[in-house]
Amino acid sequence: MKAFAMIKIGEVDWIEKDAPTPGPYDAIVKPLAVAPCTSDIHTAFEGAIGERDKMILGHEAVGEVVEVGKEVKDFKPGDRVVVPAITPDWRSKEVQRGFPMHSNGMLAGWKFSNFKDGVFAELFHVNDADMNLAYLPEEVSLEEAVMITDMMTTGFHGAELADIGLGYSVAVIGIGPVGLMAVAGAKLRGAGKLFAVGSRPACVEAAKFYGATNIINYKEGPIDEQILELTGGEGVDVVIIAGANVDILKTAVKIVKPGGTVSNVNYYGEGDVIPIPRLDWGSGMAHKKIIGGLTPGGRVRMERLIDLVMAKRIDLSKLVTHTFDGFDNIKDALLLMKDKPKDLIKPVVII
Ligand code: NDP
Ligand code: ZN
Repeated sequence: MKAFAMIKIGEVDWIEKDAPTPGPYDAIVKPLAVAPCTSDIHTAFEGAIGERDKMILGHEAVGEVVEVGKEVKDFKPGDRVVVPAITPDWRSKEVQRGFPMHSNGMLAGWKFSNFKDGVFAELFHVNDADMNLAYLPEEVSLEEAVMITDMMTTGFHGAELADIGLGYSVAVIGIGPVGLMAVAGAKLRGAGKLFAVGSRPACVEAAKFYGATNIINYKEGPIDEQILELTGGEGVDVVIIAGANVDILKTAVKIVKPGGTVSNVNYYGEGDVIPIPRLDWGSGMAHKKIIGGLTPGGRVRMERLIDLVMAKRIDLSKLVTHTFDGFDNIKDALLLMKDKPKDLIKPVVII
C-alpha cells in the first residue's frame, strides 16, 4: 500500500509498505479524512521523539472499517468510525489507576506515528477496536469529526486538568487549534475572564468566537506584564499552555495566583530541562500546581465528545481553514502545517 512517512529526522516522503493485518481484537481501517498535527512536525522535523525509520506519519483520522479480528464484537466492515489519536491498551495496570494514556508505559497510549505506523496510509491498524473506535454519526461532517480525535480532546483536557470552576479567570497561552479548544473547554466549564494569547489573525478571530474575553498579542509585549496589568497585579486562577517553548513555564508560574493551576498540553520538542522560576513559585511554597498531560483516548472519550458536537455545544468547523481533496494531498497538508501561514488554523484532507 501507499503511505506518507518520516524517512528519518528532517525527511518525509511517500513509501510503499505491506498492508497491516488485524490481531483478534483489532481492526483495519481505511481513512476517509485525515489531518496533520503540529506533533507530526515536532516528530518528523525536530526529532522530538528520536529517530524513526520509514514510520508512517499521522494520528488524526476518521475512516471506514475494512476488516476486524475474530473477537471484535461491535464493529464490522463498512462501519464509519472516529479513531482517537490515543489508543490505549485497555488491559493494563495504568488503566486501572485511571491513566489510559500511559497504558503499558509513559505516553504509550500514543501509538500512531510514535512507535507504530500512523494513519497517513491507504489502510491502518487499530488495536482493541471495541474499546478504541466510536461510531461516526451521519450528522457529524468528516471535517468536524477529524477535529475530535486530537484537537478537541487535547484542548479540553487542558481545561479538565486545570479543574476550572465557575467564574475562574483563565489564560490560555497559544491559540492554535489545541489552544482554541482549550478556550472552548474553559468556557464550557464556566470560566469568567478568559485571556487568549496568540498573534495570527485567523486564530485571534477564532479565539473570540470560542469565548476569549481578552486577546493578548505576545509579540506586542511580555505576556506577564500584559496580563498582570489587566488583572490589577493579581494574575489568574488558571493558565493553560498550548504553545511556545520551555521558557513559557516562567511566564505561566508568574501569572498564576497562589493556589492556582498551570495546566500544560503543549508538547516540548526541545530542551533538557523545563525551568520553574524559584521566587515566582514562592520559593517552592506558593501552592501553585503544575500539571501536564497527554490527552485521554479511547471509545468512551470519543463518544462523549461526539455528543457535545451533536448537542451543538461546540462548532468545530471554525478550526478547519484549509480543505484538500484526495489522498495525494497529504504531503501538501503536512507541509502547510509546518509553514503555519497566517491564515492557517488546521488543514484537513478528505480522501
Ligand atoms: P500551533 O503551532 O498551531 O499553535 C501554537 C500557538 O502558540 C500559536 O497560537 C502561537 O502563536 C503560540 N505561540 C508560539 N510561540 C509563542 C510564544 N513565545 N508565546 C506565546 N505564544 C506563543 O500548535 P497546535 O495548536 O497545533 O498545538 C499546540 C501544542 O500542542 C503543540 O506543541 C502540539 O504538539 C501539542 N499537542 C499536544 C497533545 C497532547 O495530547 N498533550 C496532542 C496534540 C498536540 P501565533 O498566533 O503567533 O502562531
Ligand atoms: Zn496530534
